[in-house]
Amino acid sequence: MTTARRLAAEPTALPATLVQPLLDLAVAGGAPAVEVLAPATGAKIADLPQSSTADIDRAFATAREAQRAWALRPVRERIAILRRFHDIVLDEQQTILDIVQVETGKSRAHAFDEVGDVAVNARYYASVADKLLADRKPRGVLPVLTRVEVRHRPKGVVAVISPWNYPLALAVSDALPALVAGNAVVSRPDNQTALTALWAIAAAERAGLPSGLWQAVLGRGSAIGGEVIARADYVDYTGSSATGRTIAQQAGERLIGYSLELGGKNPLLVLADADISRAARIAIRACFASAGQLCESMERIYVHDSVYDRFVSEFVEHVKAIKLGGALDFSSDMGSLTFRRQIDTVRSHVEDAVAKGATVLAGGRARPDLGPYFYEPTVLADVRPGMTVYREETFGPVVSIYRVGSDEEAITAANDTAYGLNASVWTKDTSRGRAVAARINAGSVNVNEGFIAAWGSADAPSGGLGISGTGRRHGPEGLLKYIDTQTIATQRVLPIAPLPGMSEELWAKTMTLYFSVMKSLRQK
Ligand code: NAD
Repeated sequence: MTTARRLAAEPTALPATLVQPLLDLAVAGGAPAVEVLAPATGAKIADLPQSSTADIDRAFATAREAQRAWALRPVRERIAILRRFHDIVLDEQQTILDIVQVETGKSRAHAFDEVGDVAVNARYYASVADKLLADRKPRGVLPVLTRVEVRHRPKGVVAVISPWNYPLALAVSDALPALVAGNAVVSRPDNQTALTALWAIAAAERAGLPSGLWQAVLGRGSAIGGEVIARADYVDYTGSSATGRTIAQQAGERLIGYSLELGGKNPLLVLADADISRAARIAIRACFASAGQLCESMERIYVHDSVYDRFVSEFVEHVKAIKLGGALDFSSDMGSLTFRRQIDTVRSHVEDAVAKGATVLAGGRARPDLGPYFYEPTVLADVRPGMTVYREETFGPVVSIYRVGSDEEAITAANDTAYGLNASVWTKDTSRGRAVAARINAGSVNVNEGFIAAWGSADAPSGGLGISGTGRRHGPEGLLKYIDTQTIATQRVLPIAPLPGMSEELWAKTMTLYFSVMKSLRQK
């Protein structure tokens, strides 16, 4: 394995020799550039070119042109590119980990979760794409006489609009199945994390992806989102539930398909028989990955009364030991928040809760001594309805702990939300855990894990219920959403109509007999 050189010791320094070729890949420059700053220090990363309407037109035209040839390439050739891309991401991980850290402020361990996500998804779709995309031959209306084939056609150009919190995973892992299915992709990464997406495009081209097939346009979502959707054949969006509604309206207006991966207010349940030490340790990752700026992270913990004190004491001890920092190495456990508005939200949720009677068990303070957006991992107790943090997604390093008297009470509380993205259940009795899981309204539930068991199992779909989204990523669903089916039915020898001279009444009787026979033969 070739390991690329480390870029710099300082969290802000991305060399111009790395940045400029990436910026050159973007279809942008027609609108004024914006300055992008490194969250961990506030230092400038780049002046990021922005896309004008003409740039967006050009990106889609180029992508459309490239897609026509790409769709004709055998699936096995597309798969080979995915496999090479997988290897490049692992081999050059030091470079992409640096870029992700500099752009987001997250710790290296949390950035590595993204490398893992991309590797797992590249490998998965490389291994299943040929099967998922193969023609099917379903039974025809008249066996033997009606020959039916179902073919798969790529949608065309898929728009992937991705946020800043998991910039590699969310820009890439949804693009890969779209590409292998024969589509082109136009990505609109968040301005804050555009270099990560551009690095991925460059890496995919080095893996053999035809130039022009995967394009990136740059701009604020509110400025260019509508223009991207206006030209796309399908939209894959990840972000807040509020923006998801706008995307759905715009896609609905054009009658194109969409998939929305939105927010969460995820619950973690510690049942009376849980392995408390393990639960307390793993809950740390489940709550504070990427400083809680993870759609799947836990913001509510419900603990059975009989183990509450022990769990809280162990959990809080772990939280207090979390090491904050922004260095481009594995020396810190948790990094910075990514924006001023993120730390403002965190501050206001904590202040509101405390003013209304909540208790801070750990954290509760910004850490400007470390960088402009560092905030301590925070644990709240005595949180009640009426406090903002009770119901609203914080999307930061803040978790509230509640005492419950029974599994029933925990399940009811867990389901008292309009969201339904992810949940976690802790018990030594895994069948009990699965039974509880089945009663929680969430697109994924992890038993004795926080989020990685479900998220990392790429063969299983991932997505939200309620206002957490619609559509799925991962699994067969994560690829099939990017294709249309076409049914070609060929009628042979006899028509599906009365034979010459046969009355419609006799035809109806014959068909009635046929339907009854087929049912008794249990034919589909
Ligand atoms: P946001 O909706 O404000 O922004 C998310 C992204 O959408 C940004 O890149 C933004 O530029 C873009 N955007 C905004 N308006 C747009 C528009 N009209 N058209 C197109 N794009 C537009 O959300 P945020 O607060 O920046 O991101 C955090 C939210 O994203 C949280 O709610 C979090 O739970 C959610 N999220 C969900 C998942 C998931 O997989 N379910 C993953 C990550 C984040």
